[in-house]
Amino acid sequence: MAAKQGSTYKGRFAPTPSGNLHFGSFVTAAASYLDARKNQGQWFVRIDDLDIAREVKGSAHAILNTLERFGFEWDGQISYQSAHSNRYQHFADELLRQHKAYWCECSRKIITARCKSGEYGPVYDGYCRDRAVAPGNNRSLRVKAEQSMVIADALKGETSIDLQSSLGDFILKRADGIFSYHLAVVVDDLDLGITHIVRGGDLHPLTSQQVFLQNCLQLHTPQYAHLPIVLDTQQRKLSKSSNAPAIDKAAMNTVLFETLKLLNQAPPDALGCAPLDEIWSWAKRHWQLERVPGQASVPLPALLSPPAK
Ligand SMILES: [Zn+2]
Repeated sequence: MAAKQGSTYKGRFAPTPSGNLHFGSFVTAAASYLDARKNQGQWFVRIDDLDIAREVKGSAHAILNTLERFGFEWDGQISYQSAHSNRYQHFADELLRQHKAYWCECSRKIITARCKSGEYGPVYDGYCRDRAVAPGNNRSLRVKAEQSMVIADALKGETSIDLQSSLGDFILKRADGIFSYHLAVVVDDLDLGITHIVRGGDLHPLTSQQVFLQNCLQLHTPQYAHLPIVLDTQQRKLSKSSNAPAIDKAAMNTVLFETLKLLNQAPPDALGCAPLDEIWSWAKRHWQLERVPGQASVPLPALLSPPAK
C-alpha cells in the first residue's frame, strides 16, 4: 500500500542483526507497520548493525526474508547503520564544538570502582568534564547530561528522569571507536524524517537519552510508543537466544492473529483461520494504537510457546 499524499507520518522498524526474527520482534514490526499504514504513512526498515562484533552473520538477510514472507511492505531502501558513521561523526563533532561533549580517559574498571551505581549501571561522576582530555586511543566521548526531563509516551504516559543523577554524562562514542546507540538512532531517525516510533518496551528507559540528544542538537522529537515486552512461561523477555520460539515454525496466519490478540486489537474469532492477507487487510483497517496495553509486559501466547522439554 502506498503512502497517501499529504500524510506526514513516517515510522520505522529497526532490528539488530543478532539472530533470526523472534516473536517479540515480530510484535514490534507488526505494531509499527500497522500504525504507519493506518495513518497512511510510510514505514521504513533499518538494520541497526552498529556493533559489527555482535552481528550474527546472515541474520540481517534472514530477518528481511521473514518480513517479506509475512507480507510486510516497506518504503524506500533498507538502510544500514554501519554505513552512516560519517553522519554520526558530524553530530559528535558538532556537540564537541558547542562544548556539550568532552573526551574521557576513565576505563570501565576505574569508573565501576569510583562511581556510585545506579539503576542502569555506574553513574559517571563527570571526572573528566573540565580536564580538557585530548582525543586519542582508549578515550570515549561523553555528553554533558545536565537536564531533568519529562518523557512523553503514547502508551505509558509521562515519565520524569534526572539524567545527571541516574546516568551521569553518558557516552556518545565508545573507547573502541563505536558510536553509541543513542547518537546513532537520533541521527538515523532525523535522516529518515521519522515522526513516530513504535518499539519494544525494553527501550523505554533509554528514551530520555535520545530525547536529551535531540534537545542538544535542536531536533524535533518524534512521538514515542513503547509496547509491552513479551515474556515466556519463565517470565523471561524473549530474546534471540534459545528461549525465543522461531516464528518460522508456526503458521504465519496464527502468528499474526495471536499478535493482534496480544496487542488487544480484538480481532473476530473467525479471522483466526483466515488466510494471512485477509488478516492483514482487517488489521490495517482496524488498528488502534490506543488499544495496546500500557503495562510493562504480556505473556507469550500459548499457541506460540515452544513445547515443554
Ligand atoms: Zn573520565
